[in-house]
Amino acid sequence: MYILDNEIQLEKAVLKAKKIRTHVKFISFGVYAVRGTKGNYYEVRCERMASGEKLVLCDCKGGLAGLVCWHSVCALSLHVGIARQRVEVGR
Ligand SMILES: [Zn+2]
Repeated sequence: MYILDNEIQLEKAVLKAKKIRTHVKFISFGVYAVRGTKGNYYEVRCERMASGEKLVLCDCKGGLAGLVCWHSVCALSLHVGIARQRVEVGR
């Protein structure tokens, strides 16, 4: 898991995520399943802590080691889109 504090750290992973065409399943708001290169699915959670920091958790090896993995980036891009829509609906 890692704390999303800036988007620069995501750049590398975003590039990789774009190269690998994968499938992201929406499980619930903030919880997604991302298909890995071997066809297995990793669970990614995007949470907002009370302090306002965004926490991203992926259950792949890299994610557990605190790396910004491409699965989490795929899930994040979906999450950000859904979160934005939610705000709009809430208005
Ligand atoms: Zn991962």
